Amino acid sequence: MSDFDVDLFVIGAGSGGVRAARIAAGYGARVMIAEEYRVGGTCVIRGCVPKKLMVIASRFSDDFTDAAGFGWNVGESSFDWSALIAAKNREIDRLEGAYRANLDRAGVELVESRAEIVDAQTVRLLATGETLRAKRILVAVGAAPAMQPAIPGMEHTITSNEVFDLPQQPERVLVIGAGYIAVEFAGIFAGLGSKTTLVHRGDKLLRGFDDDLRTRLGEAYAARGIEVKYSTTPLRIEKQEDGTRVVSFSDGSAGHYDQVLLATGRVPATKGLGLENAGVLCDELGAIVVDAYSRSEIPSIYAIGDVTNRANLTPVAIREGHAFADTEFGGKDAHVDHSLIPTAVFSTPEIGTVGLTETAARLRFERVAVYQAAFRAMRATLSGREERVFMKIIVDAETDKVLGVHLLGPDSGEMIQLAGVAVTMGATKADFDRTIAVHPSAAEELVTMR
Ligand code: NDP
Repeated sequence: MSDFDVDLFVIGAGSGGVRAARIAAGYGARVMIAEEYRVGGTCVIRGCVPKKLMVIASRFSDDFTDAAGFGWNVGESSFDWSALIAAKNREIDRLEGAYRANLDRAGVELVESRAEIVDAQTVRLLATGETLRAKRILVAVGAAPAMQPAIPGMEHTITSNEVFDLPQQPERVLVIGAGYIAVEFAGIFAGLGSKTTLVHRGDKLLRGFDDDLRTRLGEAYAARGIEVKYSTTPLRIEKQEDGTRVVSFSDGSAGHYDQVLLATGRVPATKGLGLENAGVLCDELGAIVVDAYSRSEIPSIYAIGDVTNRANLTPVAIREGHAFADTEFGGKDAHVDHSLIPTAVFSTPEIGTVGLTETAARLRFERVAVYQAAFRAMRATLSGREERVFMKIIVDAETDKVLGVHLLGPDSGEMIQLAGVAVTMGATKADFDRTIAVHPSAAEELVTMR
């Protein structure tokens, strides 16, 4: 008999934890996974999936407007927030069911409880008080919204945890921040017809992205009627008797909103997990410090996904979970290469990006060649929409290797997946150039830029 109740105890049934649990069980490990909320984690329950459904919903307003240029008479349209939320909830319930079924099929035991670490190989289930001995513990608890800046009236804001279930659509909404979540929700609300304001302490949206994309997205948002307040911070939020919020800003102005969405980053959800009981090392943000194999300082404890604050993206967490299980239970040597990660921001217009920005490339390479194109999408020729598609390829002029691809416009999220394959394979600009164009498409610009 083993001294352990399980070979692997996973804390957190999000995308990464579930993948690790299933793969480890597939190798014959006895696996238990604890979840205190809903199976599926942030991505499925209150992140990527419901967000994308809402992005899709928000883009129909463009479709209705653009249709006129193609001869359609769409007539009056109206939007029903409750119908969207109910439909979204049905889909999330279905997906959660699928996640549960997959765990079950893989032979993973699910415990619906918060779990805390008692020592390097013991966990306690808070629902029952029971303690369990585990040969290995995997922490996959993700992250939670950062409640910052700390200003009076913070309690009158909502975060991405609440935004998916608002009982009604805000007529006027303020979004604080300019990262992924802020720009995506500003786009969603604007598309659905809410009067939308975004306030950002910096002078461009989406820090870390290529500067041309940042500038152009800001311009596109302004053209779409989103008020963007740059170099401004909110100072105070006051809730009125009628439930609305008055926000005063550092530029001396004030605004009246039905909801204020705080989207100022996320912090690893390590508080109260008992990590200190086992001596697990966390950084100043609370992220668990791990090596390339997702091993913490303590040999029996591992961590994957947002709780490690490496690249906070679902597909990365899934890869980390899979690699962990392959290495620890499958006898393989697997780890994740975080150096090239294609990603999309589902703003409208959408962003797709992989590799180095122009600024980062110029810092690292002697000679950098930049190819770019800005053009109206074919659809815009008849719809009359002014918005431009923008594409940029960054190349190491010494070796001709493509270092980065940056896209802004419809379907950029789809296009960047394949550009990501090329860049991951080490494609040169000449490889792009000798690829025959798909015509007529926007993507063909990627192989015709000279
Ligand atoms: P981000 O870290 O992307 O952005 C945070 C934003 O808040 C930045 O604009 C930042 O400004 C601003 N900010 C931070 N602190 C303050 C403060 N004290 N006062 C005012 N502004 C502040 O976080 P998000 O919450 O948008 O997203 C979290 C993570 O989730 C992302 O990093 C991403 O990895 C993931 N995600 C991915 C998505 C996708 O793949 N499409 C979608 C949604 C989330 P500044 O730039 O000046 O620091």
